[in-house]
Amino acid sequence: MTKRREFIKKSIIGTTGLTIAGLGLGSGAAGSARSAGSAGSSGSAGSAGSTGLVQGDIVWQEDPEWMKVKFGDWGGPGVSSRPGPMDNMRLKDWAPRSLVVTKETFVDKARFPVIDCHLHIYGRTPEQVAEWVRTKDEVGIEKSVILTGATGEAFDDLVDLYLGPYPDRFILYCGIERDDPEAPGYSARAVAELDRCHSRGARGVGEISDKGFGITRDTSLPRDRRLHPDDERLDAVWQRCGELGLPVNIHFADHPSCWTPLDVFQERTPDYQHFNMYELDALHYDELLQIRDRTLEKHPGTIFIACHLSNQGNDLEALGRVMDRYPNLYLDTSARDYEMGRTPRSSARFLEKYMDRIVFGTDMGRRKSMFQIHWRLLETDDEYIPGRVGWRYYGLNLSDRVLEALYRGTALKVHKI
Ligand SMILES: [Zn+2]
Repeated sequence: MTKRREFIKKSIIGTTGLTIAGLGLGSGAAGSARSAGSAGSSGSAGSAGSTGLVQGDIVWQEDPEWMKVKFGDWGGPGVSSRPGPMDNMRLKDWAPRSLVVTKETFVDKARFPVIDCHLHIYGRTPEQVAEWVRTKDEVGIEKSVILTGATGEAFDDLVDLYLGPYPDRFILYCGIERDDPEAPGYSARAVAELDRCHSRGARGVGEISDKGFGITRDTSLPRDRRLHPDDERLDAVWQRCGELGLPVNIHFADHPSCWTPLDVFQERTPDYQHFNMYELDALHYDELLQIRDRTLEKHPGTIFIACHLSNQGNDLEALGRVMDRYPNLYLDTSARDYEMGRTPRSSARFLEKYMDRIVFGTDMGRRKSMFQIHWRLLETDDEYIPGRVGWRYYGLNLSDRVLEALYRGTALKVHKI
């Protein structure tokens, strides 16, 4: 890390946000930006110029690292950047209207019946559930896996709500007992509740989530008392999941950008800054992936579906090596439309290579158009498709064989249907 980035990390993160006249990240805290400049101006950055792209007295356009990150081998914008009306626009308000005219395919129904393996409790009443089923029929979804995360009565109520009227249209996962994991007998208590939920109809466990604070998400606990998936207190639970044939849907870490500073090099738009973990008292991304690997290693007889492409969809080669190493690692594609859409060719190859271990998922409510945009992304070769994170997507144009496995075939096997 350069001196300047070190400085930004220390002085700006967690205070007023980053102020850059011209890019407008954050909300105009000139004072902190000025002091940032004075402490961080030792490198190549000179005094404030007339370009408008200034943080304190840092002129980013004169910074070699900034130039490299922004323009790569082009070496620059090719025009001189002059001040103008856009200098005072906030980055979060920028919504470029594309003038590209290219094929736009509307796919109202999926090419094969779909099992959506990553949803949550998007209906709380019989009417809402019935409405959901109508949407499923319209867009071509055969079954929906609801990761309830629930145990006890809360789980039983969901069984009545969903499986009562629609036993073939929904698959329910339960949660695991999370109360008081430090009390003696926790493991036995958790296994007993798992058995009970299984007998009531649970066909998997999840979504279990560890973004660095442990699966109880108790941020007040000191690091050494947090319950991470590789903790021995959970051994009996994962072991039992394997014995019962219950896959575990598990969220390790988060998008890696969450562990990078909220500075000019931040990959994600300001819409995602509240997900940022940088400098929080949480485990680092790499540590969480190590926890994933240890969990997989310890429980070879249990299927773990690492959701959101295991939060490694940005580096499919590395993820492929982990897939090769652990045959019990499965993936879901939920909420990573943007990773697949920005790397359509390598993603299509990856989905083909590991098609017997990747299931389709959405994780974004139950709006009809949300499902249909997924069909367009996966089934067509459309270009420059509007995305939801500020990036444009390109259709993956998957073959029937891969599409059928992703949509349905692999999920049928995983759930022994
Ligand atoms: Zn989810």
